[in-house]
Amino acid sequence: MMNERGGIKVLVYEKTDSGKNFLEKFFKKRVDYSYHIIHDRKDLKEALSDDPYDLLIVESPHATGDIRNLKLDIPTIALITDDLPKGLREVVKCNIDCYLLAPFHEKDLEIKLKTAIERKSWFRSLYNEKRDLEAIIELSYLVSSTLDPKEVLYFVVKKLSEMIEVTRCSIISIGFGEKRYAYVVSTFESPGITNIKLDLRKYPEIRKALQSKQPVIIQDALSDPLMKSVRDQIVPLGIRSIAVIPIIHRDEVIGTLFLRTSRSKSIFTEREVKLCSAVANVSANALYNAFLFERLENEKARLEKLAITDYLTGVYNIRYFYHRLEEEFSRAERYGYPISCIMLDIDHFKKINDTYGHRVGDKVLREFAQLIRRHTRKSDVFARYGGEEFILLLPQTPLDGAEKEAQRLRSYIKKHPFKGINKKITSSMGIACWPIHEINTSDDLITLADHALFRAKTKGRDRIVVSSKKRKKTAN
Ligand code: GH3
Ligand code: MG
Ligand code: MG
Repeated sequence: MMNERGGIKVLVYEKTDSGKNFLEKFFKKRVDYSYHIIHDRKDLKEALSDDPYDLLIVESPHATGDIRNLKLDIPTIALITDDLPKGLREVVKCNIDCYLLAPFHEKDLEIKLKTAIERKSWFRSLYNEKRDLEAIIELSYLVSSTLDPKEVLYFVVKKLSEMIEVTRCSIISIGFGEKRYAYVVSTFESPGITNIKLDLRKYPEIRKALQSKQPVIIQDALSDPLMKSVRDQIVPLGIRSIAVIPIIHRDEVIGTLFLRTSRSKSIFTEREVKLCSAVANVSANALYNAFLFERLENEKARLEKLAITDYLTGVYNIRYFYHRLEEEFSRAERYGYPISCIMLDIDHFKKINDTYGHRVGDKVLREFAQLIRRHTRKSDVFARYGGEEFILLLPQTPLDGAEKEAQRLRSYIKKHPFKGINKKITSSMGIACWPIHEINTSDDLITLADHALFRAKTKGRDRIVVSSKKRKKTAN
C-alpha cells in the first residue's frame, strides 16, 4: 500500500522483508517521500508499467533476479541484504550502479536517493534538449526545402504544438512599414485559416514584442498589468499564459510566434522559451519568403488583370476578346455548340461629349460598360471594341437567345439614368450567330455583327438588327 505523504514516490521490491525495518524507519522521518513495498513479481510489472514512481529500491540478491530482464528506465538502488558476493554479482548483472551494503545507514541511503533523483532530472532535461535540437534541425531542413513557404510555416506551428502544450499556436506576420495591423499567416488549430487581420491595438503583448524585439511572456493574463486594457476580451477565451517570440529578419521584426495556453499553474518554462526562440530564428527566412511570395503573387495577378483590362471602362480589352474568341469559336466548331456575337454602339455619343465635355463623356462610357457587364453572364465575354463601341461574345447561345439578351440589354440601357447628363442614352446593336449565318472563321462572326450594327444605324438607331447573311444550304 502506498504511504501517501511526500512528492517523491519510491517503489520497494523485496522478497525477504530484510530491508523492511530499515526502510520504514528511514521513510518515517522523511515526509517528502512516499513509498510502496511489494513482494510479488506480478505486482512489480504492473507498478512499473503504470510509471507513477520516481525511483525503485530492489533487494539483492533475492529480488534482483526478477528485474534482470526488464528494461528499466527508472533510477534504481539495490539494497544488498545478505550474501555480499552474490548480491554484488546480481547488481552488476542488472546494470545497477547504485547500491548499499548491509548493515545499512540512513545517511548513505539519503545521499544515494538524492543522487538518483538528480540524475533522473538531468537525464530528463538532456532528453528534452536532444528532442528540441532534433526538432530545430528538422525545421531548418524544412525551411530550406522547395515547399510553398506557407506550407513550411504550417509545419513550424505543427511541430511547436507537438512539443509544447499550448491551446493556440500561430505565426503572425507584420507588414513592412505598417505596424498597426498584423496577419495570422499560419495557425495550428485551423490549418485552412490564413491572413486573418489583427488590429494590434487589441494585442498589447504583440506590440511590446515588436517594440522591444524581445520575447514577451505573460504568466497570468488575468493579473498582468500589460493586459489590463484587453482583459475583458481574453477572459472568455480562457487564455492564461501567453508567449510572443519576435521573428527577426535583417534586424527588423517581420512577425512573431504567438502561443497561448489555458494552463494556469505552469507557465512557459525557460526551455520552452528557448525552443521557441530557436524556432523563430529558423522560421525567419520562411516567413520572409512567404511575404515576398505573396507580394509577387498579388503583383502578378494585378499585372495579369491589367493586361486584359481596358483602362477607361474596366471591362476586358480587345486583345483579350480576340484571345477568347479564338478559343470559344474553335470549341463551338468542335462540339457543334452555337455561338453568338452582339456588337453595340452608343447612339449620338459625340453629342454627349459636345454638350457635357469629354470628361463627363468618359464617365458615361465607364458607367455604360459596367452596366452591361453587371447584366451579362460570367461565361460571356464583354469587351470594349474601341471608342464607344462594345462587343459581347455569347458562347453556347443560339440566335434567339442572343436576340433576347440584346433586347434585355437595350432596355436596361434605355432605362438607366446616367450620372452627369440629363438625357437618356440609346444604343444600336448588330447580331451574328454561328452556325446560322455565313461564318467560316472567328473573324467572320465579328464582321457580320458589325455589318448588322451598321444597318441598325442606317435604319435610324435605337434598335437591334440581326445579320441577313444566312448560311447557304449545301446539298449533299
Ligand atoms: P452614332 O450614333 O452614329 O454612333 O453617333 P456617334 O456620335 O456615337 O458616333 P461617332 O462615330 O460620330 O462619334 C463617336 C464619338 O465617340 C466621337 C469620339 O470623340 C467619342 N469617343 C470615342 N472614344 C472616346 C473616349 O474614350 N472618351 C470620350 N469621352 N469620347 C470618346
Ligand atoms: Mg456611336
Ligand atoms: Mg462608333
